Amino acid sequence: MGYIEPAPIKDKANPFESMMSRFNIATEALGLDEEVYNVLKSPSKQVSVSLPVTMDDGSIKVFEGHRVIHSNILGPSKGGVRYAMDVNIDEVKALAAWMTWKCAVVDIPYGGAKGGIRCNPREMSAGEIERLTRAYTQSMAGVFGPDRDIPAPDMGTGPREMAWLMDEYSRSMGTTVNAVVTGKPLVLGGSLGRVEATGRGVMVSALAAMEKLKINPYHATIAVQGFGNVGSYAALLMAERGCTIVSVSDISGAYYNENGIDIKKAIGYRNNNNGTLEGFDGAELMKDPNDLLTLDVDVLVPAAIEDVIHLGNVNDVKAKLIVEGANGPTSAEADAIINEKGIMVAPDILANAGGVTVSYFEWVQNRLGYKWTRERVNRRSDRIMKDAFDKVYQASLKYKVPMRIAAYIVAIDKVAETYKFRGGF
Ligand code: NAD
Repeated sequence: MGYIEPAPIKDKANPFESMMSRFNIATEALGLDEEVYNVLKSPSKQVSVSLPVTMDDGSIKVFEGHRVIHSNILGPSKGGVRYAMDVNIDEVKALAAWMTWKCAVVDIPYGGAKGGIRCNPREMSAGEIERLTRAYTQSMAGVFGPDRDIPAPDMGTGPREMAWLMDEYSRSMGTTVNAVVTGKPLVLGGSLGRVEATGRGVMVSALAAMEKLKINPYHATIAVQGFGNVGSYAALLMAERGCTIVSVSDISGAYYNENGIDIKKAIGYRNNNNGTLEGFDGAELMKDPNDLLTLDVDVLVPAAIEDVIHLGNVNDVKAKLIVEGANGPTSAEADAIINEKGIMVAPDILANAGGVTVSYFEWVQNRLGYKWTRERVNRRSDRIMKDAFDKVYQASLKYKVPMRIAAYIVAIDKVAETYKFRGGF
């Protein structure tokens, strides 16, 4: 398989630096006072634990786990739990802050958190992962809670791990508490519409931005990097609204068809082909998959990994609009050039917030003890995404800043104002 090489030139940024550089620009534009700035920039709680787990061969291995609550000013904190070998506390801190801003942009009553365990889930058996998940949940029993801190899936975790987490937490409470975690299997109280929620939010953001740029969806050409959960649903839903998806890519390469790719067919092919598009005959395989990013299209949707638009390729980007399905696909250094070129960006904390919005709906349904229809979930999340886009767009006009900074301004302003009302010690 022709695995994609990482983008050749990467700006030197870690997630914390890249988040803080945008945070600093936004707080300055907003004229935030120093005291509140200091409150918002530091996480409110961080917990690190050692997790001894008996492996299948009888040995005991100790894993390092973290949970960082960046803020609970708006409500209980929300954020995923990542299982990966490069999990470290600095990254978890940055991702937790990111969640605070994401929840605030879409105006849901949550603070931000993130968790992680340094491990390689691909080398572990299901039993080992289950014991690790239960050990982590026990250690975090005083941190998690439906009114305190609500985990969710992230890289390396999914509905299976969330089910174990819910079960372990419920055992320690002596009662079923399904609202302690979101991203659960449907039978355990998961929400209809959650699977496609992030891609759907990307579609809503893209259409809202196209309207501002006077791009007619029926004439629009779109390239989507990443054909997983976010990218494939975003592509499908945009195609259903008349857009022409000329290029999609995944780990096997980038595919191009100037007449438009049949996305339903591509998804069907991927589902029957070990999850990749390798060998897909509905489009041509491009020589260099990184060229997808610089195609002459109206809209570019990076929905795979971080830092793919960077100083080395940003000058060649031709799209009029970038809708960030992935988290952090644009390096902080590339922002300035994107702005100079007049490209509109629907930034990650806005464009991919459809997922956390429907996670919030899952929690609401669990607390109500009731299930919403898919139509209700979609209608409400579309409205939230559209309102958030409009608010960010208005802020970009008011403060004369690009959409990314405007999104941070909307978020920071909301958290800062709430903090001022609530007060501190
Ligand atoms: P996924 O694992 O379902 O899909 C990732 C896709 O990207 C796969 O098709 C993979 O082959 C492809 N890919 C990986 N490396 C690539 C490369 N170098 N070039 C091109 N394609 C590549 O993941 P996902 O859930 O779709 O998440 C994608 C991004 O969206 C991540 O940044 C994630 O953090 C972000 N995100 C996801 C959600 C969600 O609800 N799933 C919510 C918010 C943000």
